[in-house]
Amino acid sequence: MSDDCIFCQIIEEKASCYAVHETRYTKTFLDIFPASPGHCLIVTKDHYQDIFDATPEAISMVGHVSTLIAHTVKNELQCDGVGIFQLNGAAAGQTVFHYHMHVIPRNAGEEISIHSRVPGNPEDLQAMAERLSHRASTMLDGVE
Ligand code: 5GP
Ligand code: ZN
Repeated sequence: MSDDCIFCQIIEEKASCYAVHETRYTKTFLDIFPASPGHCLIVTKDHYQDIFDATPEAISMVGHVSTLIAHTVKNELQCDGVGIFQLNGAAAGQTVFHYHMHVIPRNAGEEISIHSRVPGNPEDLQAMAERLSHRASTMLDGVE
């Protein structure tokens, strides 16, 4: 736990999030500045800054869950594609220094962006979190 880390605060439930899924090692919630509707972040429960200090086990668990969330998003939203990416260091564009993966639904013809500066509408985020968490609970039953 890092006191000034927003993702640690979310994991510790000291800050709120639009939750989608949880395992022993990861929490998945919506990005509040979505690059597209359904933009998910898969976050380690332990605090690591980036791939350079995260353990191989944490990295592989985030990779595994990201794949499952990609299936969940594709299935629920019927999007044309899903982008998965991860940034390490400010020079690479990382803005929250707690290891995480982005899973972003994509549709043909839409502009591809990594970050958005526009916050999602809270009602839309809430409705999306309900859809994806329900889909995850049925598709990922037993994934701990
Ligand atoms: P990074 O740039 O580090 O790869 O991604 C960090 C992401 O976290 C950004 O896409 C940003 O929109 C998102 N973000 C920043 N603050 C918060 C927050 O308080 N809650 C949530 N859910 N997402 C956040
Ligand atoms: Zn943290």
